[in-house]
Amino acid sequence: MRVGYVAIVGRPNVGKSTLLNHLIGQKVSITSRKPQTTRHRILGIKTTEDAQFVFVDTPGIHRAEQRPMNRRMNETALQSLAEVDAVLWVVEALRWTSDDERVLLSLAALSCPVILVLNKIDQVTRKGELLPFIDQVQDKLKFHCILPVSALRAQQLDVLEKEVFALLSEGVPIYPADWVTDKSMRFLAMEVIREKVVRQLGEELPYEAAVEIEFFKEDERLVDIAAIIYIQKDSQKKIVIGSKGARLKSIGSAAREDIEKLVEKKVMLRLWVKVKEGWTENSTFIDTVALLDHLAMLEQTNQPLDQS
Ligand code: GDP
Ligand code: MG
Repeated sequence: MRVGYVAIVGRPNVGKSTLLNHLIGQKVSITSRKPQTTRHRILGIKTTEDAQFVFVDTPGIHRAEQRPMNRRMNETALQSLAEVDAVLWVVEALRWTSDDERVLLSLAALSCPVILVLNKIDQVTRKGELLPFIDQVQDKLKFHCILPVSALRAQQLDVLEKEVFALLSEGVPIYPADWVTDKSMRFLAMEVIREKVVRQLGEELPYEAAVEIEFFKEDERLVDIAAIIYIQKDSQKKIVIGSKGARLKSIGSAAREDIEKLVEKKVMLRLWVKVKEGWTENSTFIDTVALLDHLAMLEQTNQPLDQS
């Protein structure tokens, strides 16, 4: 067997989480048009006959930020790089920005192989411009290779997987073969609900909505979930609930459908909206959510996880 950790890095919004989901063939990391959708470090595990890939999705590396939330996201992204076998650096094909240059600076000191992934080639209409673009970026770093892909349409991902396979080391699997992530269903449910909030209210609501799972009970045929959507201001309540509750209902049914796919069971989902002022400024709250999830996971599996 070949086994290893593979970090997926890049500036916000290039398609890192989309790439992770399509590499492992299941949604474990939420995505949206809005930058900074990914807040936690998420593992996506793919076990094949001869390999176990442990992909690490990271919050985008972004500019130095004063807010605890963004500082913490930067730290999470950089810590993930410490002990990996390979790095997938995702950029958008034909688009190189100053934020990409900033990522380059944090990658420059790395000794492990880096694959440059030029994502979103489905959006490239003038294919002739691809080669000159590759020419322009290929000396930015000593890349293992440069690969144009479309994460969304799953184009060229098999080629990418082969390249990654070659970089893994021999070893025994780290996770059970049927695991697709190190996160609990409870955590994934929380993330899926947050995704629907961001997607459906992206423009109207600042990205600072948090979701807490208050109740999660699974039996043989049903998963019963109650969750709270926290917003910052009372005035945002109307937006999230919508006229006659229509918005909340639509968030709920979209989330329920996705969670049903993940748990492969019927899901009953109840949502509440509560105001909690200034929570993004308070990273203790975020840490607590992560810690609670970690403990819930340990309880479920009775086995230690990697230190996150
Ligand atoms: P992240 O911030 O890097 O994790 O980016 P996401 O995975 O959340 O994706 C950001 C946006 O880009 C979403 O709207 C995705 O649907 C979109 N996206 C990701 N990959 C592709 C792709 O290959 N082609 C196109 N057209 N859009 C993509
Ligand atoms: Mg992401």
